[in-house]
Amino acid sequence: MNTLSSRRCICVPGPLIVGAGPSGLATAACLKEKGVPSVVIERSNCIASLWQLKTYDRLRLHLPKHFCELPLMGFPTDFPTYPTKQQFVHYLEAYASKFHIEPRFNETVSQAEFDTTLGFWRVKSLGINGEGTEYVCRWLVVATGENAESVVPEMEGKGEFCGDIRHTSLYKSGEEFRGKRVLVVGCGNSGMEVCLDLCNHNARPSLVVRDTVHILPREMLGRSTFGLSMWLLKWLPIRVVDRLLLIVSWLILGDTARFGLDRPRLGPLELKNLSGKTPVLDVGTLAKIKSGDIKVCPSIKRLKRHAVEFVNGKTESFDAIILATGYKSNVPSWLKEREMFSEKDGYPRRPFPNGWKGENGLYAVGFTKRGLLGTSMDAKRIAQDIERCWKHEAKHRTAFTRSSS
Ligand SMILES: Cc1cc2nc3c(=O)[nH]c(=O)nc-3n(C[C@H](O)[C@H](O)[C@H](O)COP(=O)(O)OP(=O)(O)OC[C@H]3O[C@@H](n4cnc5c(N)ncnc54)[C@H](O)[C@@H]3O)c2cc1C
Repeated sequence: MNTLSSRRCICVPGPLIVGAGPSGLATAACLKEKGVPSVVIERSNCIASLWQLKTYDRLRLHLPKHFCELPLMGFPTDFPTYPTKQQFVHYLEAYASKFHIEPRFNETVSQAEFDTTLGFWRVKSLGINGEGTEYVCRWLVVATGENAESVVPEMEGKGEFCGDIRHTSLYKSGEEFRGKRVLVVGCGNSGMEVCLDLCNHNARPSLVVRDTVHILPREMLGRSTFGLSMWLLKWLPIRVVDRLLLIVSWLILGDTARFGLDRPRLGPLELKNLSGKTPVLDVGTLAKIKSGDIKVCPSIKRLKRHAVEFVNGKTESFDAIILATGYKSNVPSWLKEREMFSEKDGYPRRPFPNGWKGENGLYAVGFTKRGLLGTSMDAKRIAQDIERCWKHEAKHRTAFTRSSS
């Protein structure tokens, strides 16, 4: 175990930000603009590691670019409405460079605790060779994201299955599955898109649909469905907007229940607000389900050597299983604090838009279940709040320096 004496100790004058994804970068940029220096720590070797290392090749932003830009810098005008992941990463690299954000890479925060005696946060990190560093700071910004760890479900017979089982975070392209029978588990945006990608590479995908799901066309009436929803919500109650979305979806996509994709009882926006469950924005998968190129299956009962038994009693052979079963926050594993963050799910306890601020200089950015739009809102609020304290304390620092000189 590393004792304090064997650790390097670094005093950070401004805030310490954990995570160099879009949320950490946005907060660092907003702080920089206000003249507040910060230190960013990142466990991987690059910025936006989720986008660079854990996403599939065909990924594009799901929402139009103007809903995904970070504060203080828009996307280049020549980017398409839905930038590719490479374009998004280039944008983030340009963003980090514009605001001179230089994260400390390959450092994983393993523990952070507020020291009531000192009145500071003590944050311990580990490097790739196990070297320990302790940061002491007045403000701690948690930007480790809603997707910090993959969720891998337990399945009976998992050890028996002879084929490849992998989470979508390790899936790059359908190329390596050409001609293979692949079972994709989970029908969120990732699961649906991976199925489409597999089809486009002549694999034979099946999709496990355990739950109800709202599938909406990505565009309707010549506008993005997301943009249209935001606009309608300015004038109409959420239930009326939901009804309109469902009518237009029905006209464009037909009755999805006919293909084994039952809709939830609540409308898509109301459900998103209450549970955070995002509707799927269809980019062509539904057509492949309708044409029979993608088969819909019920829940898995158990895995066998080369096959999967489903809860309806049927058994089918598969060469590989891709788990599009989502991600979770890792905050409870390292933050020794139970007031602001829930131990259960690692999200702030207070609902949007009030989850960004805790006690003793603790902040959370990017835990709103509202994607990059939520990130921008949090980052601006956090920077404003810290700036106030920073300026207040700067006055005291100046007064103290004058009186002691
Ligand atoms: C496939 C996919 C597509 C998406 N598409 C969109 C979209 O189109 N629009 C949209 O708005 N949102 C989208 N999202 C949501 C996505 O979560 C956000 O866009 C964005 O990546 C969130 O940024 P973040 O910085 O909060 O989290 P992340 O991007 O996950 O960044 C968090 C960073 O923290 C680091 N970290 C974690 N734990 C530690 C630790 N203990 N110590 C040090 N570093 C740590 C991680 O390595 C990571 O780099 C998508 C998500 C996925 C998975």
